Amino acid sequence: MSTQEVKLPKFKLASRLTKQEDTIIKIKGQHVGGHHLTVIAGPCAIENEYQMISTARAVKSAGATMLRGGAYKPRTSPYSFQGLEEEGLKLLKKAGELVDLPTVSEVISTETFDIVEKYVDVMQIGARNMQNFTLLKRAGKTNKPILLKRGMSATIEELLMAAEYIMSEGNPNIILCERGIRTFETYTRNTLDLSAVLAVRELSHLPIIVDPSHATGKHNMIQPLAKAAVITGAHGLMIEVHYQPEIALCDGPQSLEPEAFELLMDDINHLRDYNSQMLNIKSK
Ligand code: PEP
Ligand code: MN
Repeated sequence: MSTQEVKLPKFKLASRLTKQEDTIIKIKGQHVGGHHLTVIAGPCAIENEYQMISTARAVKSAGATMLRGGAYKPRTSPYSFQGLEEEGLKLLKKAGELVDLPTVSEVISTETFDIVEKYVDVMQIGARNMQNFTLLKRAGKTNKPILLKRGMSATIEELLMAAEYIMSEGNPNIILCERGIRTFETYTRNTLDLSAVLAVRELSHLPIIVDPSHATGKHNMIQPLAKAAVITGAHGLMIEVHYQPEIALCDGPQSLEPEAFELLMDDINHLRDYNSQMLNIKSK
């Protein structure tokens, strides 16, 4: 075995050793990765036209660069709202076109992959499916970028191996997402692992964004942790926003009202220099 072979990590295609320069993904005029700061915002679940369009308008005017909304929701309870499915995807597409933002929505099964693929610009694979290998392989066959969230008990290496599954099937466009991991702590929904941002940027050329909404489950923690993520050198954020969180059908307690999201965007804009500095340090 040569020295080079010994040094190569298991995630060959995702590794920074294989490709030194950051991967930059182009999505409808937006760039993700490198020096670009992406902010994906929108409701946890698409609920109706008014909710989706008013939220889309609000996040766009505050400066979000992509619009999110779940149509197939992986819920802990089978009695919870499961999402509007294809009807929801149509609303998300309409809202995205109206405000000229690319859209992100989760795909939870291979059976519904084609439907989600038809309507959205970026397909999300959520924490619960990070090691659904059949789904990962199917994601490797699409030409749409994949937003791959870290499993709730997954190591950083397992996250990168999940990305490797997608890449080895032919899709190089993956955005990784740190969304908190499960620890012994119960005060917050999960524990945000910001060191994962630094580790992933060291180990991989793929972009990594941070989702403080699912990491904490608490709206009052979103703004400080979003700022911390930006200063740490994340390539972006994913934030849940709802026009009226008290009536949200999913994840209301962690959703920001549009006004709070606007304030968060102001804060983020003031931190762009720190973010660039961190990204410069890493790419050297
Ligand atoms: C989501 O983003 O809507 C979601 C369900 O997130 P996670 O997979 O991180 O729990
Ligand atoms: Mn959610």
